[in-house]
Amino acid sequence: MLTPDRISLNTATVREQWSLAECIEGCQRHGLGGISPWRDKLQEMGVTKAAQAIRAAGLTVTGLCRGGWYTAEGRLTPAVKDDNRRAVDEAAEIGADCLVMVVGGLADGSRDLPGARAVVEDGLADTLDYARGQGVKVAIEPLHPMYAADRACVNTMGQALDICDRLGEGIGVACDVYHVWWDPDLKAQMRRAGPDRLMAYHICDWLVPTRDFLTDRGMMGDGVIDLPLLAGWAAEAGFEGLHEVEIFSAEDWWRRDPDEVLATIVERAANVC
Ligand code: ZN
Repeated sequence: MLTPDRISLNTATVREQWSLAECIEGCQRHGLGGISPWRDKLQEMGVTKAAQAIRAAGLTVTGLCRGGWYTAEGRLTPAVKDDNRRAVDEAAEIGADCLVMVVGGLADGSRDLPGARAVVEDGLADTLDYARGQGVKVAIEPLHPMYAADRACVNTMGQALDICDRLGEGIGVACDVYHVWWDPDLKAQMRRAGPDRLMAYHICDWLVPTRDFLTDRGMMGDGVIDLPLLAGWAAEAGFEGLHEVEIFSAEDWWRRDPDEVLATIVERAANVC
């Protein structure tokens, strides 16, 4: 049971309706404690202006979404490295708790999954090296295995933490329940991550049936994820951060009045999370 100040709004949840400025005002109006912008919204507003507005609103920035996408060319390119360094700079300027990484899948026409994973690890090492100098933490978001080809070839908490073990300080995981709720090893891996490496916690729900595996995420309480159980595991692992609500919903929540969306989030946080 979460009070609104324990909730952060991932701007993807109302991305079709609101600009970042409107998201910031909406968070204040509904008493939310934090925000997690996407880079397109951030750049649209202007990073410096956004940073000022977020600070003035007293919101915690639970993350910046997102860096990564290392594998599009099948190898690590200077352009991809540079873009991730810019993402680090943006995360630093808005004071984000972490830069969330969606690492990329297979390059067009490739079947080389181990090769893609090697490119990802090299890319993360490069970004991490720069991020350490800027005081920014890097959070790998493992994506559900159904996205291994086209979005992210890091697919479990355990796999992400193995990478963190190899890369060392300053890198951890963004745990999104939509991607990992099914994993029989989830509780153990949350504990393994611990408070230093469990850098973000994203919530929504898994609908049955799911009409679209990218854009039909459910509002908390409308699906099958035992959110209080998972929240308990996160707390046992030492996670004390905000719960970030991230709902991609082309047919439902993106079509509603965004104030209704935020009011529903607050109500569900209190009753089902
Ligand atoms: Zn997420």
